[in-house]
Amino acid sequence: MELLKTPEELKTYCANVNRPLGIVPTMGSIHEGHLELVRQAKVECTTVLATLFVNPAQFEQRGDFASYPRDLINDSNILSAASIHALYAPEASMVYPNGFSTSISVNGLSSTMEGLVRPGHFEGVATIVAKLLIGSGADYAYFGRKDAQQLAVIKRMVADLEVPSHIREVETIREPDGLALSSRNRLMNSDQRAVAPVLYRALATAGKAFYNGERRSSTIIGIAHEMLKKPQREGILTSIDYIEMVNPDSMQPWKSGNVMLAGAIRLGNIRIIDNIILVDNYIDEIHSEE
Ligand code: AMP
Repeated sequence: MELLKTPEELKTYCANVNRPLGIVPTMGSIHEGHLELVRQAKVECTTVLATLFVNPAQFEQRGDFASYPRDLINDSNILSAASIHALYAPEASMVYPNGFSTSISVNGLSSTMEGLVRPGHFEGVATIVAKLLIGSGADYAYFGRKDAQQLAVIKRMVADLEVPSHIREVETIREPDGLALSSRNRLMNSDQRAVAPVLYRALATAGKAFYNGERRSSTIIGIAHEMLKKPQREGILTSIDYIEMVNPDSMQPWKSGNVMLAGAIRLGNIRIIDNIILVDNYIDEIHSEE
C-alpha cells in the first residue's frame, strides 16, 4: 500500500493507476463500516484508494475536532491488511494552504437536521469531497448511508458541478445490538455504550408504527422520543438534537413517498446519529425482529 501525503502525490499516483479507480473517503479510526466501503470498492474497481483526513472545516466545535480519535499507524495497518492500493493522508496545511477561500454550499438539503445543528458542517463536507474527487479523478467514490444527509449533499454537489465520478451508497453496518458503527463509539464509557443502541431502537420502533399504518409524523416522532425518556431520566442521554421524519431525497419534512427517520442524540460530549429508510430491505429487517 502506497502512502500519499500531498495533493501533488495524489494527482501523480492517480494519473498512473489502472482504472477504474475507486476512492473511499474517511476521517480514520477505521472500523467495519469503513471496511465495508472498501470491500464494495474492491468489487468494481481495479485500484482502490482510501483517504484519511480529519477535516477541520466540517467541525463547528473545536473540542469535537480536538477529541476526534486519530491513529494513523493502526489505521494504515488495517487498510493495508484490507489490500487497498493506496492511502492518502494529508496534513491540513496541504489541503488548505494559506489563502484558501473557496466553500461549496448545497442549499436546501443542508438546511435541516445536521445542517441546523452543525452550521457550516455540510459546506466543509462538500468542499473536501469535491477536492478529493477532483484531485483523484476517481471513477467511483463510496459513502455510507449512515450519514444519509451527507450522502444526499454529496450526490447533489456531484450532479450540479458535473463532477465525473459515480457515487456509490453502502448500507449501514451495525453492532449486533443495533448501534451503527462509528469512530466516536470508541470514546464511550461503559454506561454510554450500554445506552447508545437506544437511538436505533427508537427509530426502528417508530418505523414499525409507520409500517403498521400510522402516518402522522408527530405521532411517529413521539414514539421515538418516548423510548429516549428513560436514558434521559438516568442522565446518560444528555440531550436530543433532533428526531425527524423526512423525505430521503429532499431531507425536508415528510409528506408522501419514501420515509427516512433520522435522529441525533448526545451522551455527554459524544454525539451519535443514525437513520433508517422505510423502503425495501428495511421492511424485511424490522419484520424479522418480530
Ligand atoms: P467517517 O470516517 O465517519 O467520516 O466515515 C467515512 C465514510 O464511512 C462515510 O461515507 C460514512 O458514511 C461511512 N460510514 C461510517 N460509519 C459507517 C457505518 N456504520 N456503516 C457504513 N458506512 C459507514
